[in-house]
Amino acid sequence: MKIGCPKEIKPQEFRVGMTPSTAGEAVGHGHTVVVQTGGGAGAGFTDDDYRAVGAEIADTAEEVFATADMIVKVKEPQPVERAMLREGQVLFTYLHLAPDPEQTHDLIASGATCIAYETVTDERGGLPLLAPMSEVAGRLAPQVGAWTLQKANGGRGVLMGGVPGVGPANVVVIGGGVVGTHAAKIAAGMGADVTVLDRSLPRLRYLDDVFGTTFKNRYASAAATAELVATADMVIGAVLIPGAAAPKLVSRADLSTMKSGAAIVDVAIDQGGCFETSKATTHQDPIYEVDGIMHYCVANMPGAVARTSTIALTNATMPYMLALADKGWKKACEDDVHLLDGLNVHAGKLTYYAVGKALGIDV
Ligand code: NAD
Repeated sequence: MKIGCPKEIKPQEFRVGMTPSTAGEAVGHGHTVVVQTGGGAGAGFTDDDYRAVGAEIADTAEEVFATADMIVKVKEPQPVERAMLREGQVLFTYLHLAPDPEQTHDLIASGATCIAYETVTDERGGLPLLAPMSEVAGRLAPQVGAWTLQKANGGRGVLMGGVPGVGPANVVVIGGGVVGTHAAKIAAGMGADVTVLDRSLPRLRYLDDVFGTTFKNRYASAAATAELVATADMVIGAVLIPGAAAPKLVSRADLSTMKSGAAIVDVAIDQGGCFETSKATTHQDPIYEVDGIMHYCVANMPGAVARTSTIALTNATMPYMLALADKGWKKACEDDVHLLDGLNVHAGKLTYYAVGKALGIDV
C-alpha cells in the first residue's frame, strides 16, 4: 500500500502524522511511504530523516493526496485537503466530527473511508489514541501553571516546591482521570502540596492504591470543591463527562473566595471548560485575568511540545496504521472491533451513531 503523510496546515499545528520511526516500520512491512517535504519540521524531523528509513519525499500535498491509498495525519482535514480526498482512499486522523457539520458533509461527499483517532476504543473502554494527548496535557499543566504563578505573568509569585523554611504551592486538581493523574504526579514531583478531586469512588480508590501519600484525594462534592479552591494557589481543571460539555464546577462568584493571583489551568477547555470564567486562548496569548485570578485556557496544549506529542501520538497510532496498511481497512476492522469503532465515514455514508445524532444525519 502507498501511505501518504502530508504537512499539517491547520494554524499553529506543528505535529506530523508519521515520524521517521513509524515510516520506517511501514517501509519494513513492504509499504511505500510518501511524506510531504517539510512535513516533520515542526516536530524536529528533516526530509533526510525520512529518506534514511526509505520513505519518499513529495514536493506538494497534491502529490501526496493524488497517489496515496491511505492518508495519515494529525488534525482534521482542512477544506483544501478535503477537496483532494477521493473515493476508496482511507483517511486516518483526528476528525472530531460532532461539532463540525461542514467537514462531515465534505467527508461524506468525498467517498473516502475516514477512521477517527478519537473514537478508536480499547478492551477496557478507554480511548487509546486520545490518551497520549491527555498524558501530555496533564504533564504540561503544572509546568504552565507554575509559569502563570510567576509575578511577571500576573500570578501570586509562589514557587511550586517552596524552599527550606517556606511551604510549597497548594495545587488542586479537579478530575482524576488521565489528565488529572498526570498533572498531580508532576505537580507533586515539583514539590507542591497536591489534592485530586473526583466523583468516581473507584477512581479515588485506584489513585489511593497506586499513589499512596504522593498526593491526597477527596470526593468532589460541591462543598469540598469550594473549600479546596478557596485555599489553592493553582487549580487544574481536568474533568470529562464523555460526549457532553464539561460541567461548570467553579462559578465567577467562587473566584472572589480565591487567593489573589492564584492560577487556573483549565485543561477541559476543549470541552467548554469547567470554570464559568474560562474562554479558549492560544499559545501566542495564553493567559488572561478575571477578578484577580489568572486563567490559562489553551485548547491544544500538546501543540506546545510538538515533538514529544508527535512521538507519543504515533507510538499509539502505529499498530493501527500498520494493521490498516497490511490487511486493508475492511479486514483490519473485521479483525479488531475497537478499530472498527473508529470508522466514522465510509463510501458516502456516515457510520458513527453519536455524530449522526449530534448533526441530525442518518447513519
Ligand atoms: P478522563 O475520562 O480520563 O478523566 C476525567 C475524570 O473526570 C474522570 O475520572 C471522572 O470521574 C472525572 N469527573 C467527571 N465529572 C466530575 C466532576 N463533576 N467532578 C470531579 N471529577 C469529575 O478524561 P481525560 O483524558 O483526563 O480528559 C480530561 C479533559 O481534558 C477532557 O475535557 C479532555 O478533552 C481535556 N483535554 C484537553 C487537552 C488540551 O489541550 N486542552 C488535551 C487533552 C485532553
